Amino acid sequence: MSFFEKLKNGLGKTKTNINDKINDVFSNFRKVDEELLEELEEILIMSDIGMDTSLEMINRLRDKIKKENIKEVEEVKNALKSIMINVLEVEDKNLKINTKPSVILVIGVNGVGKTTSIGKIANNLKKNNKKVLMAAADTFRAAAVEQLEIWANRVGCEIIKKEEGADPASVVYDSIKQAKEKGTDVLICDTAGRLHNKKYLMDELYKIQKVIDRELPDADKEVLLVIDATTGQNAISQVKAFKEVAPITGLVLTKLDGTAKGGVVIGIVNENKIPVKFIGVGEGIEDMEVFNSQEFVNAIIE
Ligand code: GDP
Ligand code: MG
Repeated sequence: MSFFEKLKNGLGKTKTNINDKINDVFSNFRKVDEELLEELEEILIMSDIGMDTSLEMINRLRDKIKKENIKEVEEVKNALKSIMINVLEVEDKNLKINTKPSVILVIGVNGVGKTTSIGKIANNLKKNNKKVLMAAADTFRAAAVEQLEIWANRVGCEIIKKEEGADPASVVYDSIKQAKEKGTDVLICDTAGRLHNKKYLMDELYKIQKVIDRELPDADKEVLLVIDATTGQNAISQVKAFKEVAPITGLVLTKLDGTAKGGVVIGIVNENKIPVKFIGVGEGIEDMEVFNSQEFVNAIIE
């Protein structure tokens, strides 16, 4: 199965949620008028895209219809799709990992899929001939380290770990040392996501970032925030909270398989202007791809 097919299958519920309703509206309308736009607006709002972004997109659609003199109902659908693609296209959408080593710091709430995503991303990088090293800087539970280790074995890359409760920043420090010594291309750091203890999380992430900046001042650094798409609008508040503790350079959207709430990605990107870099559509090692906004929109609206 190609990734696009996987994506389409994975986004099946989101597609049912948006596409079927949109097609219903189009089959009920003969001409392009304000009422049609209102119906579309309602569908967008109901599909977890969020109020502000939905209104903004409909306004852009209204302008486009006027400017391009769109008369056919079917053309409105394509116009809406191109607006969605445009919203999802923000700057710096490609992973910037050109220095040797470069660092990817992975952050996010517990259970969103950080460790799993690290495994999948590492696999993806390895396929592109990158030498990857994992840092088990989620030292909060021993199980978290073991889980990352399983992924490292599966991918076939090395991992730096310490005992449960060790200082996460010291794990990162040791990892950087090894990365320099062994010619690692990309160092990927797992972290704990105790958002309920914000002060602690903030200190922890601050210390980790300080070590990275001190030891690798000229390296390319990505800070990827992992978001669980099934949480819908709650994901938006997670982005807000994490923006305060780290300079996020990209989003990883997980669990798009089996949720009808995939529309939330459009709202998150529009409100924060942070690009989505990867999306996860399953628990398997191959179930993650570099995000492509055109494919995404084509998978949810046909
Ligand atoms: P962490 O606490 O953020 O490190 O999250 P984990 O990586 O441990 O993932 C939590 C659960 O979500 C695990 O059971 C994963 O298999 C599952 N998971 C992660 N990504 C995906 C995904 O894209 N799709 C599905 N269906 N499950 C996922
Ligand atoms: Mg984890």
